[in-house]
Amino acid sequence: MLARLDDFQPSAIQEDDARRSLRVFFDSADARDRACEALRRTFDAGQLSIDPVDVPDEDWAGRSQAGLRAIVVGRLVVTPPWDRAAAGARSDAMTIVIQPSMGFGTGHHASTRLCLLALQRLDLSGRRVLDLGTGSGILTIAAVRLGASHAVGLDIDPDALACARENLERNGISSTVDLQLRDFREISRLSAPVVVANLTGGLLTRWAGQLTTLVESDGYLIASGFTERETLVLPALEAGLSLVRLERESEWLCAILHRL
Ligand code: SAH
Repeated sequence: MLARLDDFQPSAIQEDDARRSLRVFFDSADARDRACEALRRTFDAGQLSIDPVDVPDEDWAGRSQAGLRAIVVGRLVVTPPWDRAAAGARSDAMTIVIQPSMGFGTGHHASTRLCLLALQRLDLSGRRVLDLGTGSGILTIAAVRLGASHAVGLDIDPDALACARENLERNGISSTVDLQLRDFREISRLSAPVVVANLTGGLLTRWAGQLTTLVESDGYLIASGFTERETLVLPALEAGLSLVRLERESEWLCAILHRL
């Protein structure tokens, strides 16, 4: 069902294990209705019940994120602008300031933190990094802080890119990162020695072949955004890459894979 939902670009998914239900958010009623249609065609009514609802869009992202505080992830500190002081002793060189807004990626989600740690496990000095689904731009900023010579961040969401652009300026690295409004499933002639993909289990599984081609030989893919229950992801990625390391935080996983 998650794989099917991916085609309609949900903006957030909340799982409720107790009720065995999912709450799936979309940017528009139209996207939601098309996703409902597709699910109804795929599953019969006995397997799945769907309740479309409208929720007010009153800057929910801003409100829900107003209480966020700085966090430390390995050598990096990620902080909202209002908590810089608490980030304290760390040097600016290892601090990433992110204004929480519509772009996913404040460092407060396990998958983002796992990617931040994975980037620290690789030697990025002087290398190019390609970030698929850049959201707030957090991983491109981290890559540059960790020594990458250049980063490219792609996203299909113009709001996320606007937010990423502001974050790059806020961190003083606009000239080393190139942001592009592009779908990673449609790109060719673009590759990097280090590719990061914090996406969803469905996208990683279905597009594993494409992800592999984006990694240059002897390069690495960092893949996250999937949980241990999504058992198809690793076998799909391991068809073209070899698993070097698997990290987890609660149920979230992050794989570092190498291309020979
Ligand atoms: N890299 C950030 C954000 C991850 S959220 C972090 O690690 O926190 C995933 C992002 O991928 C979202 O911003 C979403 O818009 C984007 N995305 C989803 N499908 C995509 C696709 N097919 N091509 C490019 N970006 C995509």
